[in-house]
Amino acid sequence: MEQLLQVNNLVTQFRTAEDNLTAVRGISFSVNKGETLCIVGESGCGKSITSLSLMGLLPSNGSISSGSIKLNDEELTSKTEEELRRLRGNKMSMIFQEPMTALNPVFTIGYQLREPLMIHRNMSKREADVKALDLLNQVGIPDPKKRLKQYPHELSGGMRQRVMIAMALACKPSLLIADEPTTALDVTIQAQILDLIDDLKQELDMGVIFVTHDMGVVAEIADRVMVMYAGEVVEVGEVEEVFNAPKHPYTKGLLASVPNVDDEFHQLESISGSLPNINEKIDGCRFHKRCPLATDQCREQSPPIFSVSETHQSKCWLQQEVTENDKSTATS
Ligand code: SF4
Ligand code: MG
Repeated sequence: MEQLLQVNNLVTQFRTAEDNLTAVRGISFSVNKGETLCIVGESGCGKSITSLSLMGLLPSNGSISSGSIKLNDEELTSKTEEELRRLRGNKMSMIFQEPMTALNPVFTIGYQLREPLMIHRNMSKREADVKALDLLNQVGIPDPKKRLKQYPHELSGGMRQRVMIAMALACKPSLLIADEPTTALDVTIQAQILDLIDDLKQELDMGVIFVTHDMGVVAEIADRVMVMYAGEVVEVGEVEEVFNAPKHPYTKGLLASVPNVDDEFHQLESISGSLPNINEKIDGCRFHKRCPLATDQCREQSPPIFSVSETHQSKCWLQQEVTENDKSTATS
C-alpha cells in the first residue's frame, strides 16, 4: 500500500493566561491510500486536536510546537494559512459531528456545493451545477434537484450529514478526516453513513482518518486502529490484532466497555478513574494511576513504544503481560 500521510513527533500546545498546555505529546503515525485509520480514546484524549492539527484548523490560541506532517511527501507544518486553505479545499477535507458547523445557514445547498468547485476546479456555474447534482446523487440524497434549492435548516440531520460529505468530497481529496460524524445520528442513518464513507473510500482510493469513541464503529470500518490516552498514542495496529489481543491495559479496558449484545448478563466493565488534567505533571506512564497492572517501574519511567509485530505497537512496559492477564480473565 502506498503511504499517504506521515506524522512524526507531533506536539500541539495551547497558550493560556498562565501556562502552555500540551494537548498532543509527540505522536507519530501514518495513513496509507485506500485505508481507514480509526483514532479512539475518551473525550479529551487529544484525538480531535490531532485532526485539527493535520487540517491546520486549530483555534487561534493553539499551535503545532514541533514535529512534522507530510501529505504525499509535502510538509504541511511550514505552509502559510493561504496555502493550507488551498490544500483544504483540494487534497484534504474534514467532516464534523455537527454539520451546521460546516454548512452556512444563509446559503442554499446548491450554492455551497457549487462555490468550491468553481474556485478550486475552475468550473463554470453550469458545470458546477451538474457536478453538485452528481455529488448529491453519489451520497444518496433523495430528490437531489429539490435539495439544491433548499437551505440547511430545511433538511433532516442525516441529510445535512450527507450534504457535508458531498461538500468534503467535491474536490476528490486524497485524505478525508471524519471526527465523530455519526455520533448525533440514529443507528440506521449511522450505518448508512458509515457504508457511504467506506464505498467512497474505495471508489476514490482515499485515506480516511475516522475519529470516534465507539469501538463498535471501529470494528465495522477500521483497517487499523490507533488508541490515544492523555495526548499520547498508547497502542496502534491492525484492527484484528488489537481487538483479538490488545497489548495495552487501556485498550483492553476500552474493549471491555463495549456492551455485548449476545449476553444480557454481560457487565459493563469500565475503566475506573478519569483522564488526567491536560497539564498535570505525571511521572512515568501517563496511565499508571488508573492501571490495574502498574508497577514501581511504571510510576517512575515512561514506557517507550514496543513493537509487538511489524504492524502492532504498544506503549506499555508490560505489553506481554497484558495478554497473559487477558487469558486469565477470559477463563475466570
Ligand atoms: Fe499500566 Fe505500566 Fe503499562 Fe502503563 S506501563 S499501561 S502503568 S502496565
Ligand atoms: Mg472530540
